[in-house]
Amino acid sequence: MSNHFSLEGKNAFVTGGSRGIGRAIAIGLAKAGADVAFTYRSQREEAENVVREIAAIGRRSIALWMDVAQRQSVEAAARDGASALGAISILVNNAGINKPTDFDSVTDQDWDDILSTNLKGPFVCAQVFLPLLAQAGGGSIVHIGSVSGQYGGPRTAHYAASKAGLISLAQVIARFGAQHGVRSNVVAAGLIASDMGSAGLAAQSVQKAAENILLKRLGTTEDVADAVVFLASDASSYITAQTLNVNGGLYF
Ligand code: NDP
Repeated sequence: MSNHFSLEGKNAFVTGGSRGIGRAIAIGLAKAGADVAFTYRSQREEAENVVREIAAIGRRSIALWMDVAQRQSVEAAARDGASALGAISILVNNAGINKPTDFDSVTDQDWDDILSTNLKGPFVCAQVFLPLLAQAGGGSIVHIGSVSGQYGGPRTAHYAASKAGLISLAQVIARFGAQHGVRSNVVAAGLIASDMGSAGLAAQSVQKAAENILLKRLGTTEDVADAVVFLASDASSYITAQTLNVNGGLYF
């Protein structure tokens, strides 16, 4: 009997796989059997380490430079990923940035930077990859959202708005993608121990929020990756347009 949780025979593309959650996702997808193209922007050496880790698992991978805010670089990375691995049927929109700032101090520039990386980036990636997933016979797009986008995360007006928008974007992509056999879902992460998570925890308001985590620990990058692997696999073939909360019970 086939194992619907396995990703064997599938190729995936992960944005921002050089570190943190994206790195764990690239490795998690490879452990589940996929070959993985992933991108980096500034951390080339870290990205090359991830390629080595995936090779040790016995899967193929390629690290590609890409800036999600630049459509041409997304198109180039999509082309290079597909020519290295073959047809791609999984896209993970993970790349994202944050800059915790009190509402009255958020600048127009901060707003534009965060919205173009966290919301326009996933829009561009989905638009570029959807035809490729359709050509592959269908597939799955998983967007990495945040609890901040669900409850007006403290000190992150721009980030919270970008992640709230991502939930809506994912639903629209699910509506459009269904006719092409493409599913689209969000994994809304809670407080996760990564570079970004640690920076956020410096704020007292975030430390207070952490006290409300039912499971009494921060999430690991692997906690998020496991949910992504599920949503990428055929085990979730009847799930689309949904948000899966991976937050230890911080928000429900
Ligand atoms: P990190 O800061 O640890 O890593 C961010 C990743 O995104 C890096 O791989 C980075 O590449 C890449 N990246 C940043 N900007 C761009 C860009 N313009 N184009 C392409 N790639 C880019 O963050 P996390 O791993 O913590 O976050 C990953 C995702 O998870 C984000 O979408 C974030 O919003 C979300 N999230 C994180 C939470 C947390 O607590 N950590 C909670 C909820 C959601 P490089 O390293 O090469 O510069």
